[in-house]
Amino acid sequence: MRNLVLILLLVLSQTAMAEPTPYQIDLNKGSVNLVPFLEYNIGNDDPLETPPIEGWSTLSEDFIKFGYDDRVHWFRFGLQNINPNPTSLYIELDNALLDNVTVYTLHNGKVRSVQNLGDNYSFVLRPVLQETFIIPISLLTDESLEFYIAVQSQGTVNFPLTLWQKESFQQQENYDRLLAGLFIGIISAAVFAYLIVFIFSQSKNALLDAALMMSLLMITLTMNGYAFHYIWPEYPLMQQHAVYLFSCIAMACSALLARNYIHSVQAGHPLTVSFIGIAIGAVVILPLTLYVSYQWGLYLVMVAAITLCCFHIYSGFWLWKQGVHEDQDLNLGVAVLLAAMLFIAVNSFTDANLPFTNLDLLQLAMLVLVTILSVSMIKKRMEKDHETPFTLAYEDFEQSDDLQTQLAEQNLELQLTLRELEDRNNELEKINTLDALSGIHNRRHFDKRIQAEIRRSRRELTPLSLIMFDIDHFKAVNDKFGHVAGDEVIRTVAHTGEEQLNRSSDEIFRYGGEEFAMLLPNTDIAGAEVLAEKVRKNIEEAQIATSSGTVKCTVSLGVACTQKEHKLTPEQFVELSDKALYAAKNNGRNCVVVHKIED
Ligand code: GH3
Ligand code: MG
Ligand code: MG
Repeated sequence: MRNLVLILLLVLSQTAMAEPTPYQIDLNKGSVNLVPFLEYNIGNDDPLETPPIEGWSTLSEDFIKFGYDDRVHWFRFGLQNINPNPTSLYIELDNALLDNVTVYTLHNGKVRSVQNLGDNYSFVLRPVLQETFIIPISLLTDESLEFYIAVQSQGTVNFPLTLWQKESFQQQENYDRLLAGLFIGIISAAVFAYLIVFIFSQSKNALLDAALMMSLLMITLTMNGYAFHYIWPEYPLMQQHAVYLFSCIAMACSALLARNYIHSVQAGHPLTVSFIGIAIGAVVILPLTLYVSYQWGLYLVMVAAITLCCFHIYSGFWLWKQGVHEDQDLNLGVAVLLAAMLFIAVNSFTDANLPFTNLDLLQLAMLVLVTILSVSMIKKRMEKDHETPFTLAYEDFEQSDDLQTQLAEQNLELQLTLRELEDRNNELEKINTLDALSGIHNRRHFDKRIQAEIRRSRRELTPLSLIMFDIDHFKAVNDKFGHVAGDEVIRTVAHTGEEQLNRSSDEIFRYGGEEFAMLLPNTDIAGAEVLAEKVRKNIEEAQIATSSGTVKCTVSLGVACTQKEHKLTPEQFVELSDKALYAAKNNGRNCVVVHKIED
C-alpha cells in the first residue's frame, strides 16, 4: 500500500498542474452539485490505485451517468476554502450500489488520506454510516484540497456527486428517512394484512401475496442501502446478490399466484403449466446469479422478469377473452411493474436522461402494485361476504336475531300473562284466606297468622292474646230456625266480633263451624279479657234478623296469652284458649274464662 501511495504521489505530482480550477466553497449554499467542477477519465484495465495521467475531460452534462460499465472511472476536482473559518463538509456519492469507491485526498500534491468505500466492503467500515457514500472532509482557512475518486462497479456508474454542508445534509437526510419510513410502513402493512389473512383463512395465495410484497420490499431496501445498513451490514456478498435473490423469489411467487388464478378459471390450461415453468425457472436462476458475473446475473433476471411479465399480460388478455373482466389485479400490477422495468432498463442502458432514478421508479411501481392488490383484496372480501360460510353464519346470526325478537315478544306476552296470573293468584289467595260464609278470614289463614304472630311476640317480647269463642247451643238454633238462619247467625256473630276490634293489628277468624278465633298482637291477658267481655256482651245484646225471624244467641269465650309462656307452639296456644273456652262452656256458657297461668 505504501508503495502504491508513493507511485500515486509521483504520478499525481506530474498531473497536478493540469487540474481544473477548484470550486471555491460558498457557505451560503447548503448543497452544491460538484459535477460541473470535475474531470473524468476512464481507465481500461487500470487498477483503482493508479490514476491515468492523460485523457482527462470534462463532462458535457451536470450529472454522472456511464450506465453499466465495469471499467474504473476516475473523477477529480478541487475545493478551496475562501471562508474566514475552517469548515467541515460532506461529499456524497448518491448510489448505494457502487461496488468499489476509493477516494484520495491531496494537499499540495501530497496524499493526505485514502478512503475505501463501496458495498464490496463491510458497512461498518464506512467513515459515515450512511446508505449512500459519504466522504467527510475538513478544510482550514484558505486551504485547497484535491480529490481523486476511483469508482468501479458491476452495476451502473450513475450517481449525483454533491458537496453538502453538514446541517443541510442532515435536514435532507431526515426528510428522505421520513419518506423511506412511510414507504416501508405502507408495504409492511400490506405484507402484515396478507399474513393475517393467511393465518385466518390458510389461503396459500395470501401467503404468496405476502411473500411477493416482502421480496419487492427487500429489493427496494437493497437498492436504497437500508438493508445493507440495518439488515446485513457485515455481508457485502449478500448486498451484491440480494437484488437478484429477491427478484427470483418475487418472480416465483408472482408466477404461482397467476398459475393459481388461471387454474381456478380453467383447470389444466397450458398457461398454468407455463407459469409453473416460469416459477421453476426463477428458482433455478437463483443460485446461478451467485456464480455468473453481476452483469450476466442482471441479464438473466431481466430476461426472466420480462418473460414473466409478458406471460402475465398475455394471461390478462386471455382471461379478458374468457369473460373475466374483473380480478385482474395481479396482471395489472405486474403490467405496472413491467412498465417500471422498461423505464429502468432505458435509464440504465441508454443515455436517455429521465427525471427519476431507478429506485424512484421501483418504489412508485410498488406503491401502485400494493394499492391494486389491497383494493382487490378488500373487494374480494366484500364480495365473498355474500356467499362464504362467514355470510351463512352471519345470516344464521341474523335469523337468530329474528328468533330473539320473536322470543322477546313471546317473553313479554308470557310476562303479561304471568302478571295477570299473579293478580288472579293474589285474588285467589285473598279469596282463599277468606271464609265464604262469614266474609272474615278463614282457618287456613289463621294457621299462618298465628305462627307469624307467635314468632313476632317471641322476637319482640310482646304479649300475644288469643280469644277462642263458640256459639252456645248452636245445634238448637239450627234445629229451630233452620240451617239458612243458622248461617245468618254465624255471619252476624262474625261481624259483631269484627266490630269490636279497634286496632288494625287485631284479626278475627272463623276457626270452624260456629267457632271463632281472635288474634290480638301486643295485647296482654287483661286487655284480651276486656275485649272478650265486650264481644260476649255485644253478641248477647244483638238482635239477629234472619229469614226465619229474629234470633238471639250467646257465645262462650276462652282467653289465653303468651305473656309468660313464650315458647308456645301454635297448637299449644290454641289448646290453651280452647281449654278456657270449654271451661266457659262448663261454667254455664255466655261467659269469659281466662286461662290461668300457674305461677
Ligand atoms: P255448645 O254450646 O256445647 O257449643 O252446643 P252446640 O250445639 O253449639 O254444640 P256443637 O258444637 O255440638 O254443635 C255445633 C253445631 O253447629 C253442629 C252443626 O250442625 C252446626 N254448624 C256447624 N257449622 C255450621 C254452619 O256453617 N252453618 C250452620 N247453619 N250450622 C252449622
Ligand atoms: Mg257451639
Ligand atoms: Mg262447636
